[in-house]
Amino acid sequence: MPNVLGLAVLALLLTGAATVVVGAVCGTLAAGRALHRLLWPRPLPAAVVPTPRRYAWVACDTPRCGHLQTPHYPAGPGRVQCNHCGTVRPSP
Ligand SMILES: [Zn+2]
Repeated sequence: MPNVLGLAVLALLLTGAATVVVGAVCGTLAAGRALHRLLWPRPLPAAVVPTPRRYAWVACDTPRCGHLQTPHYPAGPGRVQCNHCGTVRPSP
C-alpha cells in the first residue's frame, strides 16, 4: 500500500520548489529588462502629429447628402464646404 501522506508531502514540496524556480526566472527576467531599459531607454517619438482641421457638423440640403448633418470644413471667410458633396455655403 503506498504511503499516501508521503506522496502528498512530496507533491507539496515539488509544487513549492516549482514556484520558487518560476519566481526566480521571473525576477531574473524583470531585472534584465529593467537593466536593458536603463542602459538603452526608449527613443522619444520623432514625428509630431499634426492637428486636424477644424470642422463643423452642418445639415446639408443637397439631394446627395439628403438633409443629413455632414462635416463642413472652412472654405474662406464666413463660408464652409460640405465634405461629402462639396457644396459651399455660409457658415452657420
Ligand atoms: Zn453635402
